[in-house]
Amino acid sequence: MKKIKVIGGGLAGPEAALQAAAAGCEVHLYEMRPIRSTEAHQTSDFAELVCSNSLKSESENSAPWLLKQEMRRANSFLLADADATAVPAGHALAVDRELFSARVAARIAAEPRITVHREEVTTLDENDPDTITILASGPLTSPALAAELQRLTGSDHLAFYDSISPIVDATTIDRDKVYFAARWDKGTADYINCPFTKEEYDTFLDALTTAEAVPPKSWEQIPTVSTEPGAPYMTASSSCVGGTTTEPSTTPEKLQYFEGCLPIEETARRGRDTLRFGPMKPAGLTDPKTGRWPYACVQLRQENLRADSYNLVGFQNHLKFGEQARVLRLIPGLEHATFLRYGQIHRNTYIHAPSLLTETLQLKAHPSIMIAGQLSGVEGYTESIASGLLAGRYAAALAHGTQPTPAPRLTANGSLTHYITHTEIKKFTPANITFDLLPPLEEDLRKKIRDKKERHKIQCDRALEAWNAWLHD
Ligand SMILES: Cc1cc2nc3c(=O)[nH]c(=O)nc-3n(C[C@H](O)[C@H](O)[C@H](O)COP(=O)(O)OP(=O)(O)OC[C@H]3O[C@@H](n4cnc5c(N)ncnc54)[C@H](O)[C@@H]3O)c2cc1C
Repeated sequence: MKKIKVIGGGLAGPEAALQAAAAGCEVHLYEMRPIRSTEAHQTSDFAELVCSNSLKSESENSAPWLLKQEMRRANSFLLADADATAVPAGHALAVDRELFSARVAARIAAEPRITVHREEVTTLDENDPDTITILASGPLTSPALAAELQRLTGSDHLAFYDSISPIVDATTIDRDKVYFAARWDKGTADYINCPFTKEEYDTFLDALTTAEAVPPKSWEQIPTVSTEPGAPYMTASSSCVGGTTTEPSTTPEKLQYFEGCLPIEETARRGRDTLRFGPMKPAGLTDPKTGRWPYACVQLRQENLRADSYNLVGFQNHLKFGEQARVLRLIPGLEHATFLRYGQIHRNTYIHAPSLLTETLQLKAHPSIMIAGQLSGVEGYTESIASGLLAGRYAAALAHGTQPTPAPRLTANGSLTHYITHTEIKKFTPANITFDLLPPLEEDLRKKIRDKKERHKIQCDRALEAWNAWLHD
């Protein structure tokens, strides 16, 4: 039987290791902390939650609940530890992070089939006939390993940067001030447009360019991919998915950004009209009230199928959250807006899964190497554990000499994997589990059942039935 090498002792790695060991495999789990840490981890613990302590909603028939229910039915070890260390958090599953990590560590220590190696892995052997490798080194994969992954996947297939635009609650947009329109009337009028007069634009620009930015931290800078083990993180001069780097920044923080996801305040500093000819371009957006194009315009794009939230197109930024609230409320129509998410820019290493991964999380070109966790293109703690669960089970099947069967499309796990491996979105970005990823109900059912909650219940029932059948196959 082949042995299994798991790289990464975060969330996906330990779950994968425990699943494979439970299926009778010999597992070697590699974690580089404490020899080398990442920009966000604080400890050398397994399963460290780097930011919040929430594994999201437990509300029955919500998408995060469905994902967790499937994981529980598949005996997810980390989810059992999360349940055992839960703290009161309303409808969410939140954990005591130290107890959670301690339980995971105890499980690993008690599993004789797992050998732990505290070292940084810097090479991947795609031709080793005796080993299945699960790469679960996360969004902050060390530069040497990222370089190795780049060698295997091609340089265009590894993104290093995540930029997030703010999202606004649709019900808080002042509909009297905005209008729906498609630029040059091409396509359907799906965008909400917020029109500016010259005075409004000047006020907004002054506020934007003088707003306080998040202080720089080394982990927010982009790493130069160095093949030197132990090499420090550095600001990049290389290119990657998302564009080419800018000239040295003019921001006070002296950070360098990729052109493809330049913060809006950085663009604004390049000249008073730069935004009017860039992300706030009004051309082709005739305001029905005036019959003319406004002086400048912010476009809001529907965020989900429910149309209950919209993102501000091109408004990724690096400002403090309080400053974002103040400045973004100067946009006509958003004076009383509630922001569901603020803009952010942070490092996030992930592969272009749609072109590289199979539905069983194997590299198409090197099937003995599997990718799990955030690196595979899923987003979030629970999603990362879920993908570790699948990778561990698939790897165990491969180690035993059988071809694994992918999780069914009808399930939350299957839909998440289907999204990362099949999406045709041009700029692939990692995804949380949502109902948008699950197959919709048939049209006649959709017409018959108007209530969203009822529809979701049917989707959940179907998913759990398909998941049970797959588990017992
Ligand atoms: C700053 C930040 C904040 C986040 N906050 C949240 C949040 O609040 N909620 C949420 O749901 N998601 C959050 N995420 C997203 C994501 O859910 C987490 O990053 C999650 O930990 C991903 O799980 P993972 O197992 O893929 O990676 P990780 O948990 O990061 O585990 C990867 C492990 O691999 C190790 N490693 C890296 N390189 C090597 C190497 N060469 N050799 C050996 N070991 C190596 C690392 O030390 C790490 O322990 C955040 C991400 C970041 C970057």
